[in-house]
Amino acid sequence: MSHEFYSILGVEPSATPEEIKKAYRKKAMEHHPDRHQGDKGKEADFKKINEAYATLSDEQKKAHYDRFWTSETMWQWGFGGQGFGAEFNMGDIFETFFNGGGGFGGSASGGRRREVGEDLELELDITFEESYRGVKKEIAFTKKVICSDCKGSGAKSKDSVATCPDCGGAGKVRRRVQTLFGVMEQATSCDRCGGTGKVIRDACSGCKGKKYVSQKRTRTIDVPAGIDDEMTIKLRDEGHEGIDGSGDLFVHFRVPNEFENLTRDEHHLVCTIKFDPVEFVLGTKREIDIPILGKREIDVKPGTDPNSQLVFRHEGFPNISTKAGPRGNLIVLIALEIPKKLTRKERELYEAIAKEKKLDTYDSKGFFGKLFE
Ligand SMILES: [Zn+2]
Ligand SMILES: [Zn+2]
Repeated sequence: MSHEFYSILGVEPSATPEEIKKAYRKKAMEHHPDRHQGDKGKEADFKKINEAYATLSDEQKKAHYDRFWTSETMWQWGFGGQGFGAEFNMGDIFETFFNGGGGFGGSASGGRRREVGEDLELELDITFEESYRGVKKEIAFTKKVICSDCKGSGAKSKDSVATCPDCGGAGKVRRRVQTLFGVMEQATSCDRCGGTGKVIRDACSGCKGKKYVSQKRTRTIDVPAGIDDEMTIKLRDEGHEGIDGSGDLFVHFRVPNEFENLTRDEHHLVCTIKFDPVEFVLGTKREIDIPILGKREIDVKPGTDPNSQLVFRHEGFPNISTKAGPRGNLIVLIALEIPKKLTRKERELYEAIAKEKKLDTYDSKGFFGKLFE
């Protein structure tokens, strides 16, 4: 006879605050008086659930309860026989979750479980250039749709639907549960009919009674310019269909890069161009061919440092996360390429410079001699 509050919520004493909160929400939903109008037993259960949660969701009260397996209020109404304190407002905690409540989509939904379709996910490869320019892509996928033969009832005809024998059409069944307060009755959604109160005698031949059929779909999607590798687009309501609404379709993008010297850095486009050391020293102008964008005139001023950047404003990717503001830039990275092999003439000229600057260097035979000590 310990840890009753935990069994009321149906959690272990080791449950985390998140698990307790989740369990409470579920129990409170099941027992909310809105769903069981005039049922005094239900109302009492609901109070107990709230009371248990009031203690277990409060760090201090929970610590006290864990230690002594009791709370002040529990003595009052649990063992003192005074019933529930009149000051206890069962709406209080509940409203903190549901913003004032207002029921669960009305009592018309009864005990039927909501059936919202599952989300769909697929991967889509686009090229680096397509990610820069944007592209229309056709995607093909298979999704669950509501069977058109039975309109989602799963039954062959109206006559093949019967009242559920387990719940007598109520959609709810009562279960007897042992708690601190004695045996309590709880109403839960009927397993046999899923809370609909109806069972099917003759299944629809179109869907074999499953209510849904698989269907191949194609769709053209507008992939906006600026989509990066590992980004995802959500297409609302394009997922599997459900009686109560469709899931969403998530398209995950992969952007393999086919270019060697072109990369993406956030929303900048970075093109690496290699230059000879002499070009760095003396400066040069060169027309280069930038993949995707075409020709650009590159002006490398005399005395440029390796890995300097030339910036062409607003020629990069659109800023897709904010969908506003300027595009990123095209950045041309001036990279240094050191010649690994020299012609004899080149070697002579380099050595002449070394001599002129009194620099100790290796000679052509790989010998290092200190010439200028
Ligand atoms: Zn039933
Ligand atoms: Zn069907």
